[in-house]
Amino acid sequence: MSSAPHTLEGVSGSFETLRDLSLARGTLDRAGLRRRDPDLVPLLLKDPATRILELVGGRVQVIESDRGYALLLRSPGEQDTNRLSLFLGQDGHGTAFVGVVGGDADSQESSGTALWRTLREVGVLLSDRDAGMFVTVQGLANWHVSHTHCPMCGAVTEPDQAGWIRRCAQDGSEHYPRTDPAVIMAVTDTADRLLLARSPHWPQGRLSVLAGFVEPGESLEAAVAREVLEEVGVVVEQVRYLGNQPWPFPSSLMVGFTARALDPTLHLDGVEIAEAVWVSREELREMVLAGRSGISPNVSIARRMIEHWYGGPIDEGVTSP
Ligand SMILES: [Zn+2]
Repeated sequence: MSSAPHTLEGVSGSFETLRDLSLARGTLDRAGLRRRDPDLVPLLLKDPATRILELVGGRVQVIESDRGYALLLRSPGEQDTNRLSLFLGQDGHGTAFVGVVGGDADSQESSGTALWRTLREVGVLLSDRDAGMFVTVQGLANWHVSHTHCPMCGAVTEPDQAGWIRRCAQDGSEHYPRTDPAVIMAVTDTADRLLLARSPHWPQGRLSVLAGFVEPGESLEAAVAREVLEEVGVVVEQVRYLGNQPWPFPSSLMVGFTARALDPTLHLDGVEIAEAVWVSREELREMVLAGRSGISPNVSIARRMIEHWYGGPIDEGVTSP
């Protein structure tokens, strides 16, 4: 890639980052120091003032609220004591919140006005506090499910520190929840067209911006340049940070960037990308409104990045599945 000094030509607008991303709005005090108290969760599960968030098969219960939905929280019960319990933090009034994981996904009948919903379904429609709690419990639960054994010796590991580590029963080694940084980039050409692409796993017509995981030994900006070059054969410069949000499916942190292509000629890798296209704002609008193309859902940073480039909402009613 070019190591020439970047010029400011072609940079449009002033520098600003994306605010209020749907899954980056948490408000709870994580109160990390309290996790060291081995009695914390047992005591909280005996306290009726504790608020319990139950996660079963990737779904929580929600009820309708003025914003859209609110988490259905309840007092601890007998059924919680033998389940994976995760201390999520406390609010400004000192109320503690605990996530409990597991249970029978087949028993998810809606009772009364409560509905079982996934984070993808309701992430945009929850309050700041509730969205943050759902993201945290989902990400932490995903890690527990896939890290039941010690990577050093193969023995079974047990949750410790209020659900924030797992400890090997054999050698005592501690294992921490993982978060995998991934870059996602809105690449534009000199005509300010946006690069959109389709993964081979996606249905025909679904398009989004490029993304990929950061590799060991690599900076975020270098990952942006490498991924764009690998996937569509385009060299980029002016890589600039735009915003980030957790994406616990299962454990990503999506870090958004803008970048400028030196030459728009595309050379697809044919593996990670099935098709790619440069679109003007007018072209994207026509594609979406004509139903020929669906863009990423509102809960994703991709959608926000596309709309940031577009200059506003494209069409709230038109979203790919
Ligand atoms: Zn071990």
